[in-house]
Amino acid sequence: MVTNLQARDAATVLHPYSNLSTLPAQGSLILERGEGVFVYDVDGKPYLEGMAGLWCNALGHGREELVQAAAEQMRKLPFAHLFTGKSHDPAIALAEKLKELAPTQAAKVFFCNSGSEANDTQVKLVWYVNNALGRPQKKKIISRIKAYHGVTVASASLTGLPNNHIDFDLPIAGIRHAACPHHYRFALDGESEEQFATRLADDLDAMIQAEGPETVAAFIAEPVMGAGGVIVPPKTYFEKIQQVLEKHDVMLIADEVICGFGRLGEWFGSTALGMKPDTISIAKQLSSSYAPIAGVIIPDWIDDALTSQSAKIGVFGHGFTYSGHPVAAAVALKTLEIYERENILGHVRSIVPHFQKRLTAFADHPLVGEARGVGLVGALEAVADKATKRSFDPKRAVAAKIVAFAEEEGLIVRAIGDAVSICPPLVITEAEIDLLFDRLGRALDRAE
Ligand code: PLP
Repeated sequence: MVTNLQARDAATVLHPYSNLSTLPAQGSLILERGEGVFVYDVDGKPYLEGMAGLWCNALGHGREELVQAAAEQMRKLPFAHLFTGKSHDPAIALAEKLKELAPTQAAKVFFCNSGSEANDTQVKLVWYVNNALGRPQKKKIISRIKAYHGVTVASASLTGLPNNHIDFDLPIAGIRHAACPHHYRFALDGESEEQFATRLADDLDAMIQAEGPETVAAFIAEPVMGAGGVIVPPKTYFEKIQQVLEKHDVMLIADEVICGFGRLGEWFGSTALGMKPDTISIAKQLSSSYAPIAGVIIPDWIDDALTSQSAKIGVFGHGFTYSGHPVAAAVALKTLEIYERENILGHVRSIVPHFQKRLTAFADHPLVGEARGVGLVGALEAVADKATKRSFDPKRAVAAKIVAFAEEEGLIVRAIGDAVSICPPLVITEAEIDLLFDRLGRALDRAE
């Protein structure tokens, strides 16, 4: 039965990323409060937050220190900007901290408000910098099929998922999509992970040659693809891909919006998976989702190119009113302080084996074709036939059913096509991991 609040919701809120034709009938799950890894709906029913919101609520709910950091900053200076001639301490301190943590040489941080804005900024920097370097033909950016980089015009173009393009008249010109490194789905018969990685690197090489290396500027990748279905690349994938990029002088952009800040047990997913990016997009866990803040970390050579171009043409015409918003920056700084003080990375490393053991045990379930994951993120892919890997008819929406049953069991997880993704808060305990997978197991059994 749809409640009054659900009816008001359906009548007034245009929901992001939803099937707009079915939402009103089913009614939204309306959440009211949270405590630790649990959230509570308006009737007081608790749910274990198995998705950390949208891959972002690392420290769980009810962190009073973060509330205090926001309140103090709001009292002191709720707003100041970073445009011409202005700055403020929270943005400066946060940029310094990020430079210290960055896994690659970092000169500066450009702040924005969302992962999409960060990746849009990346695209604009690639274009601007290549003009600055006197190679205006070197502008194309290669992303990957099933990548998720956001929904603003350039970011959605980088995203490699059909629903982000169809009828939005995207992608924009100059964006290409290389193969997805999902061995289970895309490897040839009998092809090992190593051979698959070699083939993808060879294909990328061929793609760049066909485009003309002088026209290809950048390759963008999430260390682990998140919203495309939690796709963990083969071990040697990035090493091989990077050899191709180096050969053709193509820069590497790491989209660390999900993997950054501990998801894989390192500050950055790049470190965990052997990526050596030129620039990095960050968001989500940067503030543990308590305030919207994101950024792009750039090295000296990009900073120098931007500065010399600005010397020629004047104002660097890019920036958001809320770039480095002082309240969000203060919350992010406090978040990073908590990660260090509470050794959250150490905690993640200590619980990952248990998380992965419980996750991969589902490979034996009759509905599950692949149970995959790394660090504290994973997915179960439902298949109609385990032997042939045949997918279910999309109309059956099996993953969505599992997610709905999980919700009834008191667990929030997320359907991505045929996969059910799991990405709990980093602070989750072993006992809570057991609760999560016990509930998920019951949901799977009910969906059989
Ligand atoms: N990049 C990645 C890897 C993401 O997972 C997301 C969002 O899930 C984005 C970019 C877009 O971030 P936002 O939704 O904050 O715009």
